[in-house]
Amino acid sequence: VHVTAVIIGAGHAGLAMSRRLTERSIDHVVLERGEVANSWRNERWDSLRLLTPNWQTSLPDQAYDGDDPDGYMTAAEVANVVQRYSAAISAPVVTSTTVTALRSANDRYEVATTGGTWRTDAVVIASGAANLARLPEFVRNLPGIRVQTALTYRRPDDLPDGGVLVVGASATGAQLADEIQRSGRPVTLSVGEHVRMPRTYRGRDIFWWLDDTGILDERHDQIDHLVRARNVPSPQLTGATDRRSVDLNALQRLGVTVVGRIGRVVGDVAQCSGALANTCALADLKMHRLLDRCDERARTGALDAGQPDRPEPTDIGASALELDLRRSGIETVVLATGFRPDYSWVQLPVLDRHGRILHRAGSITAAPGTYVLGHSILRRRRSSYISGAAPDTAELAEELHRHLDATHRSRTPRR
Ligand SMILES: Cc1cc2nc3c(=O)[nH]c(=O)nc-3n(C[C@H](O)[C@H](O)[C@H](O)COP(=O)(O)OP(=O)(O)OC[C@H]3O[C@@H](n4cnc5c(N)ncnc54)[C@H](O)[C@@H]3O)c2cc1C
Repeated sequence: VHVTAVIIGAGHAGLAMSRRLTERSIDHVVLERGEVANSWRNERWDSLRLLTPNWQTSLPDQAYDGDDPDGYMTAAEVANVVQRYSAAISAPVVTSTTVTALRSANDRYEVATTGGTWRTDAVVIASGAANLARLPEFVRNLPGIRVQTALTYRRPDDLPDGGVLVVGASATGAQLADEIQRSGRPVTLSVGEHVRMPRTYRGRDIFWWLDDTGILDERHDQIDHLVRARNVPSPQLTGATDRRSVDLNALQRLGVTVVGRIGRVVGDVAQCSGALANTCALADLKMHRLLDRCDERARTGALDAGQPDRPEPTDIGASALELDLRRSGIETVVLATGFRPDYSWVQLPVLDRHGRILHRAGSITAAPGTYVLGHSILRRRRSSYISGAAPDTAELAEELHRHLDATHRSRTPRR
């Protein structure tokens, strides 16, 4: 079957792109291996709420219209928003259809699926940035301890009683440490590089400040050390309704034990970095730099903001350099060490040696007419959030349209 464009993935990003193509009357199909909003329905833990306030959950032509703009949606609520969007824009989604290969075929592309093969002039890969869990090297040396990842973990009660080692202290790790400790299972949290932010500052949500200061709109070409910036972990925040803090001070007050990054596991012993104090000092420093920008904005914008209420410095005391997993009663290890996309089906010369797609702001230059969406700082800092889909897809649709025009001209015989 031939169609002008194929979008792979019916998450919010793929659907936003579908909306853009419909606006331009570009015939297309959205291929989805599961159901619409599959990731939100089937691949998130039960208690997950967005970090971003509801008013930021906007898509092209669909602003948040609920009665709790400052609340944080559950994963199920996000799935419903995405589902409603799909219906509202009449997206041409084909569900239960897994893309098994994307390859070039003459001057077009061929998209093989479990439901047949499509030939197309343009492809938008919107299959998500979090299909697989990133696993640290030391996992294979864990001494027969049950391992969960953020993709398999659902709720504390599924874990056996006993201690839990949570590895990684970004948004995921901090949230899971918080809820598992509250369930009565003593948590040890292994902390590497992390991003500390208060949930609110001067009376406003930190995402309000990120938006208002223009930080979320900084573009990829304005950002120093882009590769590094794209790998910065998500902030230690939760969207819990009580707006509680899940920074390291708060987690330790709950009873969580904090250790440094685990380098390796030898026998029963996990060896932890001694640089934890420095790592925390750096995270505090960066947080204060961010809050300085908020203060500056409050001053120059003459905002009606509350008093500067800076968080206390992180206090981790003397953390252990070695953790004997058995003696500490660790029954489960929960890996919150990040996610990565799964592009094992991409049969184009566009992947680096780590299996990541090489692109420039979403355009895959080694395969003209192919694009990728939903990645960290794809085009701007906002790109990895739902609110980034509107500006990113507007620009990518423009590029895709130009590509189709150029291909059409080159195929049309001159008189
Ligand atoms: C833990 C977590 C917390 C987050 N919190 C926030 C937040 O607070 N605020 C916010 O704005 N965003 C948040 N994000 C979401 C982030 O915005 C999105 O994950 C990201 O932008 C990607 O969206 P997407 O539509 O590209 O991918 P997804 O929503 O993952 O959609 C991709 C779709 O592609 C399908 N697919 C994958 N492979 C194939 C294939 N081979 N064939 C066919 N279909 C396929 C999948 O089934 C899925 O439906 C969070 C993400 C995660 C993982």
